[in-house]
Amino acid sequence: MTVRAPAKVNLQLSVGPLRDDGYHDLVNVFHAVSLFDELTAVPADELAVTVETAPGSRVAVDGVPADDDNLAARAARLVAARLGVEPAVALRIRKAIPVAGGMAGGSADAAAALLACARLWDSPDDPRLSRDDLLELGADLGSDVPFALLGGTAIGVGRGERLTPALARGTFHWVFATADGGLSTPAVYAECDRLRAERGEEAPRPRVSEELMSALATGDAKALGVVLSNDLQAAALVLRPSLRRTLTAGHEAGAIGALVSGSGPTCAFLAENAEHAAELAAVLAGEGVAKSIVRAGGPVPGATVI
Ligand code: ATP
Repeated sequence: MTVRAPAKVNLQLSVGPLRDDGYHDLVNVFHAVSLFDELTAVPADELAVTVETAPGSRVAVDGVPADDDNLAARAARLVAARLGVEPAVALRIRKAIPVAGGMAGGSADAAAALLACARLWDSPDDPRLSRDDLLELGADLGSDVPFALLGGTAIGVGRGERLTPALARGTFHWVFATADGGLSTPAVYAECDRLRAERGEEAPRPRVSEELMSALATGDAKALGVVLSNDLQAAALVLRPSLRRTLTAGHEAGAIGALVSGSGPTCAFLAENAEHAAELAAVLAGEGVAKSIVRAGGPVPGATVI
């Protein structure tokens, strides 16, 4: 059973006040792009995980746990517990999504494992786990996991896990600049809180950008480019100052939108069309501002059996 699951970029990431439970209230517009991790689940004596770099990718996988800490292993255990079976499965993960890159690679693997294990262990004729059940299990694993199941473009509220699909027309063409080493998501949120406290800023209650929704609905890449926003960007730039150069290089190379993806350090650049994306990727590759340059389109579907 092989499932592939997409990376995401946040088109809008608005971080509201810190809640009592330690999470922030968010408005998170997720957009799934055609950069996929692939997970194969094979019946085995006991739960095992292997992690490797996908063919043709340059993703470094040394930071990824190959034990029970892997989000995919936790997903397999959750499905097994719900179905009352042993989690007797070998999971092979082939990663193309940068690790700790702000593109929710771990969440993609968790979503892939939820779907693969449900297909492996649930009854095909009379399934006990519905799609909604999988979304719920996903939300227990992490805020970004339900979106990796759903895919497309969606608005996430709460801690990002309560999703409503957004209307998007056509395909948007992206160029991603990956970085050496990751950024820890909790560290970036903490830096965002620290910066706000230092400036005496109250976190505003986040709301969905109308301009963003209309750019998506009309498929207007130029309009989308100017309304991309990420409240975590300033914090990511403090923790990784070299990203300024990467963003500037993208602007100078003609990107119609540029931002840090999620908690970074991957930077996302929007192009006008596929040809422009190819040009932009070539220029950025020559600038030496990234570990690797990857092109991808969005939106694409969520976790899918292949
Ligand atoms: P997000 O954008 O959701 O904040 P991210 O893309 O920045 O996430 P991930 O690649 O999901 O970050 O990984 C963050 C950390 O999670 C890694 O450093 C790793 O220790 C741990 N992890 C657990 N399982 C996985 C997995 N299957 N793939 C990648 N990382 C994993």
